[in-house]
Amino acid sequence: MAGNTERVFVALGANIGEPQRQVEAGFDALAALAGTRLVQRSSLYRSAPVGYLDQPDFINAVAAIDTSLAPRALLDALLEIERLHGRVRDFANAPRTLDLDIVLYGGRLIQEPGLTVPHARMAERAFVMLPLAEIAPDVQVPGLGLVRELAARLGSGGLQRVGA
Ligand code: ADP
Ligand code: MG
Repeated sequence: MAGNTERVFVALGANIGEPQRQVEAGFDALAALAGTRLVQRSSLYRSAPVGYLDQPDFINAVAAIDTSLAPRALLDALLEIERLHGRVRDFANAPRTLDLDIVLYGGRLIQEPGLTVPHARMAERAFVMLPLAEIAPDVQVPGLGLVRELAARLGSGGLQRVGA
């Protein structure tokens, strides 16, 4: 792979259809992105919905990728993957077939219309922080601290490792 790359962490989530398969397909789609290498995938975790509660449990995971895609190009690619997997956006916290969020992009702080990195609510979400801590405990979250310490503050958050 040519050019400079950055280490990026992407959170994957799904809760309708076949969530486990959709998250697996999400990993595959990340691996297939131009200028991108899938470095590591966390275990899959099962979590209860937040916000709108009357919907199935989620399957969540985090991927580490090295990519030469710029943040906005990566976001567009992730939204396209979501679209290809049939996601319909209805309302906030609605059920979804596949959700892909940029959690961290190198050590960058990005605040643009439609793109906030680190992801705005990551530190309060066990379903992001636990899988992230599994694969990247020593990574620094700009402005917030070490992944392992942020995750430890949250406890299990009711998350269960799938197949464990
Ligand atoms: P959420 O992931 O918080 O449940 P959505 O997936 O519906 O919500 O996100 C809607 C919008 O959030 C996207 O269209 C995107 O422009 C914006 N957004 C802002 N920051 C990010 C980020 N770091 N990763 C992914 N999407 C983001
Ligand atoms: Mg999203």
